[in-house]
Amino acid sequence: MPELFIGGQWTAAADGRVREIRCPADGTPVATVDEGGPKDAAAAVAAARLAFDDGPWPRTPAAERGRVVVRVAELLERDRDALARAESLDTGKRLVESGYDMDDIAGCFRYFGHLAAAGGGDRVVDAGNDAVESTVQHEPVGVCALITPWNYPLLQTAWKVAPALAAGNTFVLKPSELTPHTAIHLMRLLAEAGVPDGAANLVLGTGPLVGAPLTEDPRVDMVSFTGGLATGRRIMAAAAPTVKKIALELGGKNANIVFADADFDTAVDYALTAVFLHSGQVCSAGARLLVEDGLHDRFVTELVDRARRIRLGGPFDERAHTGPLISAEHRAKVAAYVAAGLAEGAVLRCGGAPPDDPELADGFYYLPTVLDECTPDMSVVRDESFGPVLTVERFRTEAEAVSLANDTVYGLAGAVWTGDAGRAHRVADRLRAGTVWINDFHPYVPQAEWGGMKQSGIGRELGPAGLAEYLEAKHVWRNTAPRPQRWFG
Ligand code: NAD
Repeated sequence: MPELFIGGQWTAAADGRVREIRCPADGTPVATVDEGGPKDAAAAVAAARLAFDDGPWPRTPAAERGRVVVRVAELLERDRDALARAESLDTGKRLVESGYDMDDIAGCFRYFGHLAAAGGGDRVVDAGNDAVESTVQHEPVGVCALITPWNYPLLQTAWKVAPALAAGNTFVLKPSELTPHTAIHLMRLLAEAGVPDGAANLVLGTGPLVGAPLTEDPRVDMVSFTGGLATGRRIMAAAAPTVKKIALELGGKNANIVFADADFDTAVDYALTAVFLHSGQVCSAGARLLVEDGLHDRFVTELVDRARRIRLGGPFDERAHTGPLISAEHRAKVAAYVAAGLAEGAVLRCGGAPPDDPELADGFYYLPTVLDECTPDMSVVRDESFGPVLTVERFRTEAEAVSLANDTVYGLAGAVWTGDAGRAHRVADRLRAGTVWINDFHPYVPQAEWGGMKQSGIGRELGPAGLAEYLEAKHVWRNTAPRPQRWFG
C-alpha cells in the first residue's frame, strides 16, 4: 500500500521515489516507503486548503472535534504494541521506552480532546456601550505544516497533530525521513476516528524536497517545527516572505546543577538518566553537569563508575539499558564533538568511542562518555552534540552556578539538586529555561506547557498555550442600534 496520504487517499510519490528504512541497531531492512517531493507537498497543501476553506472540520462543533480526538487516543491504546514496535525499528530505541512513548502520546490526544471540548476560551467584552455586543471568539489558524524530528517521532508529532486538530485546523505532516512508520500508522487511526478527508495529510520526504516547499507555500498559514537550531533558523527565514505564523521547538544544552547538599545517590542516578536516556538524543538532555567544587571528585568518580556499566543493545535486547544513535552520520558528528572537546583540554573519564563488542558492530552505537574539567568556551559545552556525551564543570557559589547554567544560546530545560528548598527556588527562578526540575529530571505532563526560551524556540507545546498556538483570536463587534454618525456632515 502506498504511504503518502493526501486528500483522504493513499498515494505513491509523484516522481516514484522510494527510501529504504533500516534499523539503526543492526542495519536490518525495515521497509521501503514512498518518498515524496515538491509535487506531493503542493498536492497535500491543496487538499488541506480545500478541507479548511470548504470542508466540515473547521466548522464541526468543538465538542464533536474533541470527541474525535479522544477517539484517536483510544485507537492509539488499542494499537500500542504495534506502534511501539514500529517506533523501535525506525529509531533503534528500546521497546519498553517506545511503549512508554505510546502511553504519553495517547495521553496527549486525550488531554487536547477534552480541552477543546470544554471550550470556554471565547469571552464577552464590555465595550462601554449598552447598544454593543462585543465578543472575542477563537478560530483555527488554517492550514498548518507540521514538521517533526526522528528522536521521538510520534511523540513530537502528537504534540502538534492533537492540538491542531482539536482547534479545527487542517494540516500537512512531514515527519523525519528517517522514521516514517508511526506517522503512517497514525494517519490510518485519524481516518478511522472520523477525521474527514483532506483535514489530515501526510507527505514523507526530506527537508529540502518536502519541508522547504511546505514552509514557502503561500497557501500554508502556519508552520510548527521541531528540530535543530540551524533548520529552525532556515524555516523562520523561509516563512518570512509570506508572514506565516511559526512555532519552533529547537534544541537545548541543558544544565544539571548539583549542590553538595543534594542526596548523593539519587543525584548520581538522575545525572545518568538526564544525559544517557535514549543515548542522549533528547532535546532536554542534561548534557552539562555543573557540580559544586567540594562534591566534584566523589560525584564524578561514582558517576563514571556507573556510566561504564551501562549496557548497550538493540530494541529487543531486554538486558540493554539504551540503544544506538540514529545514523552513521550522526555518530560521526558526536565523535567529532568529543574529539574537539579533548583537543580543547577536556579530560576523558569514560567512553569516547564506539563499543568494541562484535555483536554491536552493525549498529551505530557510541559509549556513554564523560568529559571532565570542561570550560564554558569549549564547543562540546556550547553546542548540542545530541549524543551520549556529558560535560562536567565545577562551580563554587550559587551565583556562579546560575551564571554557568545560563551561559548558552539555548533555554529549553534545566535542573537543580539541593536539600535547601529556598535555594532550589531561587535558582529555578533565575534559570532562563522553559522547564526547570528541582530534585528530578525529565518528567513532563500534557497539562503543563513545554518549550524554549532564547534560541530554543518560539511558542509552547502542551498545556492550554499548546492549544492556543493553533487558534486565532477574532473580535466581533455588533452594534445593535446603528445610527448615522455624521462625522462627515
Ligand atoms: P533536523 O532539524 O535535522 O530535522 C527536523 C525536521 O526538519 C526533519 O523532518 C527534517 O527533514 C526537516 N527539515 C530539514 N531541513 C528542512 C528545511 N530546510 N525546511 C523544512 N524542513 C526541514 O532535526 P533532527 O536531527 O531531525 O532532530 C534533532 C533536533 O531536534 C535536535 O536539535 C533536538 O534538540 C531537536 N528537538 C527539539 C525538541 C523540543 O521539544 N524542543 C524535541 C525533539 C527534538
